[in-house]
Amino acid sequence: MQTVYFDDINSVLSKWAANDPPIEDFTVENVLFAIGVDDNSYELVLKYLMSKQDFELIPKKMLLCPNNHKIQSFGLEEVVEDYFDCHCGETDFFPEPDNYLLVFEFTDCFISQCKKKNRALRSNENSSRGFQLVY
Ligand SMILES: [Zn+2]
Repeated sequence: MQTVYFDDINSVLSKWAANDPPIEDFTVENVLFAIGVDDNSYELVLKYLMSKQDFELIPKKMLLCPNNHKIQSFGLEEVVEDYFDCHCGETDFFPEPDNYLLVFEFTDCFISQCKKKNRALRSNENSSRGFQLVY
């Protein structure tokens, strides 16, 4: 099994959260890909991401139509008893457990922290460039 560096996960998450607009509805697979490890690390990365629940991340279930289009996301514990339509022409389908994909969103608090940090970083770069100009 490849080594999963939690630090890598954290920097990917900070980058995505500071993105404008922030990356939303990403999956465990997206994170695995971003840090360059394979599916064998799925459980580990999932567990790590879940540990950030309510602090940095909000896990959600994304409803997919039978053709795998994203319809809408719901809280993990939310009971969904509606019928749904999709733009692809699938109408009145009732969600089965198989129709859901686990996705993550960032908390507002984490997004604003990352943006703030990013701004600070950028203004630091600017001032050091200014400093070099003086020389
Ligand atoms: Zn569809």
